[in-house]
Amino acid sequence: MLKRKMIKNFTWPLKIASREIEFTRLYPEFMMELPDAERGIHELDATTCIGCGSCARVCPNNCIEMVHFKFGNPLKNKKMLFPQIDYGRCMFCGLCVDDCPVECLKMGKNVIMAGWNREDIVKGPDFLATKRFSAKEVADLEAEAKRIAAEKAAAKKAAAKEGATAGEKKPAKEGNAAGKKKAEAKPEEGGAS
Ligand code: SF4
Ligand code: SF4
Repeated sequence: MLKRKMIKNFTWPLKIASREIEFTRLYPEFMMELPDAERGIHELDATTCIGCGSCARVCPNNCIEMVHFKFGNPLKNKKMLFPQIDYGRCMFCGLCVDDCPVECLKMGKNVIMAGWNREDIVKGPDFLATKRFSAKEVADLEAEAKRIAAEKAAAKKAAAKEGATAGEKKPAKEGNAAGKKKAEAKPEEGGAS
């Protein structure tokens, strides 16, 4: 068995060289089982992320940038901003995970992140999100967010109108009361003279 593997290791490069193609052989050939505490590429639940940016603020290497992503929840994440992580700088400390107030960010088990360019190791929410809404679900949530915003605006307008009417009524009442007092005081003055 060992002999066969050794022969394969010698013959493989010769085969590839003769074909004149660029080829990277996966080594080890089978991914080993990673321990529970392994910290790999982050996993983001875009359905619960509120876009607070705590993860970006706490990151000691400043490798998180908040970027737009359209498959989150517009009711919870009004600006639809989600973390994008630069794995060229990430040291997998997990502070961003610890600081997330809604526990929607966790360290995953995927450790394969090689790429041809520098940009290949900057992973946006589209890559990180293991949970996301569909376009239809987002459209429904957006409609709900608009309805709630319209209701709030109408209530605010009504409250402002009510406040203005109450303000107008008050001075009129006060004016009437002052007039009444004056009228009551006048005969007394006249009577004294
Ligand atoms: S694991 Fe640490 S270094 Fe990496 S993004 Fe999170 S806080 Fe930053
Ligand atoms: S992942 Fe967590 S900490 Fe980061 S923006 Fe979303 S809710 Fe906030």
